[in-house]
Amino acid sequence: MNFSDDALHKIAESMEPLSQKGVSRRDFMKFCATMAAILALPASFIPKIAEAISGKKPYLVWLEFQDCAGNTEALLRATKPTAAKIILDILSVDYHETIMAPAGHQAEKSLMDVVKNQKGNYLVVVEGSIPMKDGGVYCCISGKSAVDIAKEVCGNALATIAVGTCAAYGGIPAANPNPTGAVGVKEAVPNATVINLPGCPVNVENITACVVHFLTFGSLPNTDKFGRPYFAYGKRIHDNCERRAHFDAGQFVRQWGDEAHRQGWCLYEMGCKGPETFKNCPTVKYNEGTSWPVQAGHGCIGCAEPNFWDTMTPFYRRLPSVPGVSIETTADKVGAGLVAATAAGILIHGIGRALSPKKEEE
Ligand code: SF4
Repeated sequence: MNFSDDALHKIAESMEPLSQKGVSRRDFMKFCATMAAILALPASFIPKIAEAISGKKPYLVWLEFQDCAGNTEALLRATKPTAAKIILDILSVDYHETIMAPAGHQAEKSLMDVVKNQKGNYLVVVEGSIPMKDGGVYCCISGKSAVDIAKEVCGNALATIAVGTCAAYGGIPAANPNPTGAVGVKEAVPNATVINLPGCPVNVENITACVVHFLTFGSLPNTDKFGRPYFAYGKRIHDNCERRAHFDAGQFVRQWGDEAHRQGWCLYEMGCKGPETFKNCPTVKYNEGTSWPVQAGHGCIGCAEPNFWDTMTPFYRRLPSVPGVSIETTADKVGAGLVAATAAGILIHGIGRALSPKKEEE
């Protein structure tokens, strides 16, 4: 990357506070370049990103409701000073039940101080679904129901980032028969500005990229009709999957642990929902880009789609209808051409299999 002297000066200035905390120039540049790549911005935006994230720290509160804390774990599991460290350094995290020092009344005071003193000027991250049934009694913190907390905190925020499928759409707690009446943040607080980052758990880079976009441009990224940012949910998993060449070649795993599985062939016949699921897992992966489910040999379960627990099961079987059609047709960016291409690919695979069963067995 070649930058002007002015840009290099800005980068050097930007990283000074972070370098005092042990973040190297190399890590910082890598972080800014990764953010630009995830947001599909040209490299010329890197100095702008560097400058934006070193400005005034925005206030942020992190609420946990009906959740497993998997998204918090995903954020904190970094072993190197990368996304997690940098995001914690560029934000003023004033309330986070898992990592904050205060407890009890002190903790609740920290939350209310932000809501009252920074009204309309702070960000919220919500993890977990919100139970609406029976007055919201199934999730209460400090004597208040989750829905009342969400109305007060998210309703007065600049914006709310719903991380994980539970906060976005209700997730597993909302699975049939949904005993607690669980919903996502937008349904519980319709007047709040909410962006959804579904996934089980969320990819940390996508949280960071949303915050970086906000700091750089002063707005949240554009979203599809499910409230998901296009930069992270604009493409199907199937389209970027490293096993895609095997799908196109009709090379499929037929049994867990068979030779095809050991060779890394396509998991479609083992129930992979990659053709129906929109997310950038194959490119950003998890644990600082180490791996993701399909790379590890497990099919995609479609966890970034609304109601996945009801609509994507059984996870280890192909869906009964023509895969790809029912869900693809509801996503903004998917046209008939893409649906037809997938259906055609599957049809060709079926014909090929019928005509040459011996070759398929091989
Ligand atoms: S079906 Fe699954 S494993 Fe096969 S190419 Fe698509 S996403 Fe990858």
